[in-house]
Amino acid sequence: LDADEFRRQGRLVVDFIADYYTRIDEYPVRPSVAPGFLARKLPETAPERPEPGDALAAALRDVRDLILPGVTHWQSPHHFAHFAATASNVGALGEALAGGLNINPFTWAASPAATELEVVVTDWLGNALHLPETLLFSGGGGGTLLGTSCEAMLCTIVAARDRKLAEIGEERIGDLVVYCSDQNHFSFQKAARIAGIRRGNYREIPTSRETGFTLSPKALLAAVRADVAAGRIPLFLCATVGTTPTAAVDPIRELCAAVSGHGVWVHVDAAYAGAACVCPEFRHAIDGFESVDSFSTNPHKWLLANMDCCALWVRRPEALTSALGTDHDVILKDPSAAAQDDGHSNVVDYKDWQAMVRADARFEVPVPRRFALVCFRLRRRSIANAVGVKRPREEVEEEPNDDELNRRLLEAVNATGRAYMSSAVVGGVYVLRCAIGNSLTEKRHVQEAWGVVQEQATVVLAAAAT
Ligand code: PLP
Repeated sequence: LDADEFRRQGRLVVDFIADYYTRIDEYPVRPSVAPGFLARKLPETAPERPEPGDALAAALRDVRDLILPGVTHWQSPHHFAHFAATASNVGALGEALAGGLNINPFTWAASPAATELEVVVTDWLGNALHLPETLLFSGGGGGTLLGTSCEAMLCTIVAARDRKLAEIGEERIGDLVVYCSDQNHFSFQKAARIAGIRRGNYREIPTSRETGFTLSPKALLAAVRADVAAGRIPLFLCATVGTTPTAAVDPIRELCAAVSGHGVWVHVDAAYAGAACVCPEFRHAIDGFESVDSFSTNPHKWLLANMDCCALWVRRPEALTSALGTDHDVILKDPSAAAQDDGHSNVVDYKDWQAMVRADARFEVPVPRRFALVCFRLRRRSIANAVGVKRPREEVEEEPNDDELNRRLLEAVNATGRAYMSSAVVGGVYVLRCAIGNSLTEKRHVQEAWGVVQEQATVVLAAAAT
């Protein structure tokens, strides 16, 4: 494209995105399409010639008419599933700029400014999150930007593994053991497998409702001791601040104390909740982080960065560079970055709407609300009551399965297209998950979503009673 045509087409794309955001509220948040729906609408082979006339305008029409009906609208204010991917149109412009410049900063020399910017920005972000100095360049550690948390886990396990094998000999790789709780994101298991940890040496320690589904330091220590007694070698602990099912916060200080002296690398996965640490009132979530070896969080989850962006900080960057580096021209340290702080503290302060769930006696909140994630479910009693109202007790052949009814409730809510939520099974109990945090979500959207849940609960309970 020459410069003028590039400008013209660029405007079309920006207009398209602006229109999408203007209308996003109108789309059903989750598409109702069946597998294979798109392939049937597209040509069998790639077109050899552009569409006649304005080819880009035609392509954008296809995106609008063929693609958008089949996407889940993650930026929709009605999206409450999983964790939010809080992009922003400002972030999209940043992506366009980065894509336009297309810089490849694999070494400092390959693009000095890009490398130095990453050094400065990760220290800014680390300061904004109140991370300990030990993880920042200014304190001898340092941060980097990756794509995903899975990458962060993989890089740090490999660093820990190589450091350990250098001490004990490579032939003992089969003895290395990694630990986490049964609430951990599956990406840790993937990372451990890619790093060569034996399947049998991946320890998922059970949690319980009593401890709020957090990893128990006592149970961790018992597992570590049992492995040591059996001649295996504890290598790595992945603790989580903000677990995926319920946003539980593992007790980092106590976990570090439990494994201290066993040479275990402690990584903290704060993919979702790390962003909350910019708020002084959530600072307690990272208490005790002074001795962790690494920490990662996804700015694309809750910091208005567009996909993909994972920030990883390590206490000893040389452990990473000696495991993964292929030369010495990797990082330029910039001690002056320490003095800087971007002062970001504008994370949305969400209203505590848990009160809305509590005000409807049909529902319970089985795990405490943490950050902006609310896990809730229909109470067993309200299900039994609904059935009992319509039919005498003796006529009810079988008590309805409350997990099944909660599952039906989620399906009914999602089928409305007016809210999209997800689920988790914690402590053997099925819960609905409402993760608030999209940049376009306002109080009215949350209220509307709760209205949808209440209305569908009435329908589901009535259907169970007939
Ligand atoms: N860890 C936690 C706690 C998560 O909630 C998630 C995703 O939701 C991940 C890790 C995976 O993140 P990524 O997709 O960046 O690998």
